[in-house]
Amino acid sequence: MSNNPGTEGRPLRVAVVGSGPSGFYAAESMFKADAVIEVDVYDSLCAPFGLVRYGVAPDHAKLKKVIKVYEKTASNDRFAFFGNVTVGRDIRVEELRRFYDAIVFANGAQTDRRLGIPGEDLPGSYTATEFVAWYNGHPDFQDRTFDLSHEVAVIIGQGNVAMDVGRILAKSMDELKNTDITAQSLERLAESRVREIHMIGRRGPAQAAFTPPEIKEFGELAICEPVVTPESLVLNAQSATELENNREAKKNYGFLKGFSERPAPTSERRFIIHFLKSPKELVGNGRLERVILEKNTLAGNSGKQWSEGTGETEVLECGALFRSVGYRGVPIEGVPFEEKRGVFPNEDGRIVNGSTPIPGLYAVGWIKRGPTGVIGTNKPDANATIKNLLEDIPSLKPCEEPTRAAVSDFFRIKGVAVISYADWQKIDAAEVECGQVAGKPREKFVHVDEMLRAAEKD
Ligand code: NAP
Repeated sequence: MSNNPGTEGRPLRVAVVGSGPSGFYAAESMFKADAVIEVDVYDSLCAPFGLVRYGVAPDHAKLKKVIKVYEKTASNDRFAFFGNVTVGRDIRVEELRRFYDAIVFANGAQTDRRLGIPGEDLPGSYTATEFVAWYNGHPDFQDRTFDLSHEVAVIIGQGNVAMDVGRILAKSMDELKNTDITAQSLERLAESRVREIHMIGRRGPAQAAFTPPEIKEFGELAICEPVVTPESLVLNAQSATELENNREAKKNYGFLKGFSERPAPTSERRFIIHFLKSPKELVGNGRLERVILEKNTLAGNSGKQWSEGTGETEVLECGALFRSVGYRGVPIEGVPFEEKRGVFPNEDGRIVNGSTPIPGLYAVGWIKRGPTGVIGTNKPDANATIKNLLEDIPSLKPCEEPTRAAVSDFFRIKGVAVISYADWQKIDAAEVECGQVAGKPREKFVHVDEMLRAAEKD
């Protein structure tokens, strides 16, 4: 029997760092290869599935069905989950290299982009990332509080994350109570006095980053109506051409136009959509009281138009503001990091130092390409990286201790309480059972110690 890595005698040992969609698609792709590969998927959390569990909005249950695909991958005999392990803290990258022939980074984009304006950090100004992580039960965000006692909330940015935040603020308790939103956040949201939700886009309606199903939904809510003025939908010639050439933007525009033709809203809450405005400053005495917005115009006439300030400003009084202007990757010690884009520099998924690939290090998903695309985008993205990894197998330096037992010993000696996939299945079953009482798909555990207890680890 051959002892070359990638054979029955010596399976290739690969660590995948991150168990979100890109990590699971990478594992799936490796299991479909001719080479024999054992895949250990790491996550700093006790639960797998990354943004599908902690990012996808609770009221978008359909999107979470993709977990079935990941469960199938996890059922492969060559799969193992190492949950509750932070790479870079519990095990350094160079230590991982002792146990794995290759490492695939699938650690996503864990922080948010900054606006870089005065007042950005005033109490009352939050990131969408922290709000989303809080209502989805991410254990690191449960100590956050969001002041929803003022009638006006503002969201900066017009991507799908901004839409999720807007919808959670806009929906009635009846619309949310049977979702997997956490009981704690539901309680807080029930006390919300927010009546006006303003979503601010720096460019025009033809350039909005949200997608048609998301904007359509705002026309169908129980206690909230969308508001957009006909004047804000007027397009310049370039935008009219952009719209003609982009099916999604055209559909978005159709929904916006419909909203602009509605009679004046009578519902309890309003979702007010602004275009061509940028936040210039957040102002308040010790806490956020208002945002200064500058009106923009579009510049550039070929390809992508960008926004330019006109100098004309307006003031919007508000009590909470959510910055939703995109995610950003964070570095891990031992891996090069491209500061500007917030990604691991790579060529088609091979992590590079300058332009030289670093043998055995790969990237997939948002840490590879930046925070764009929907869940499904990660499948071809992961396949492309794994194709390169498979090509590289003959030239990879075999690791010193190529067994799962060796790496498990490492964590045992270090006292790291690793959550295996079987442990996760116990947590999963307990959450589902808890949820049944409240008519929810599950009641998520929001603290690590509760999860360790459910997995019988403490
Ligand atoms: P995004 O789609 O990139 O949207 C970012 C938004 O922030 C854009 O409107 C952008 O405007 C704006 N922005 C950026 N910098 C700004 C600044 N300095 N001032 C004002 N506005 C600024 O990012 P996202 O919403 O975080 O979503 C990330 C990815 O996840 C996207 O691909 C999204 O589709 C996906 N996602 C999908 C779903 C779903 O399928 N339901 C749900 C959530 C997220 P410009 O366009 O002018 O740059």
